[in-house]
Amino acid sequence: KQNEEFSIKSLFHELQPLIYPSIVDIDVNLTSKIDDDLIISSNKDEIKQVLLNLLINSIDALKEKDKPRNMIIESFCSQKGIFINISNNGPAIAAEFLKTIFEPFFTTKELGTGIGLFVCKKIIEKQGGYITCQSLEELTTFSIHLPNNLVCI
Ligand code: ADP
Ligand code: MG
Repeated sequence: KQNEEFSIKSLFHELQPLIYPSIVDIDVNLTSKIDDDLIISSNKDEIKQVLLNLLINSIDALKEKDKPRNMIIESFCSQKGIFINISNNGPAIAAEFLKTIFEPFFTTKELGTGIGLFVCKKIIEKQGGYITCQSLEELTTFSIHLPNNLVCI
């Protein structure tokens, strides 16, 4: 499918009804810092799928934690490219698992499939980008990096 132009803001906007019930249900403080003007040319449905995967993983992680439950979504563009970060203050990922989580079928969930992050990585790499995870005691962050040539001016 051909690339189309869309704003990162609009993707999160379209995903909001899907995640909002869980956000309310488990009382997540959601902070959003999305560059309003950032428009990119890419595979909209696939990028949307990536973001949904990351948001649901974040919510799953927060379910394992007492309140306050915080989630931060952030997107900006710099000379180094486009960045989309999704963070939460749920239980940290053990250092030894940080590489494994992107492998197919790795899951720590009773009903998990372990394919979410594998698919996310494939989609982002197909667009010439990469995805990383950093997990410290108080914050787990998934960062999507996409190349500058996808930015529409
Ligand atoms: P699934 O969600 O089906 O388990 P994923 O590929 O989406 O599969 O994620 C793989 C594993 O990575 C999860 O089971 C979990 O252990 C870990 N993980 C992913 N996202 C997070 C997160 N935000 N916080 C903590 N652990 C995470
Ligand atoms: Mg998942």
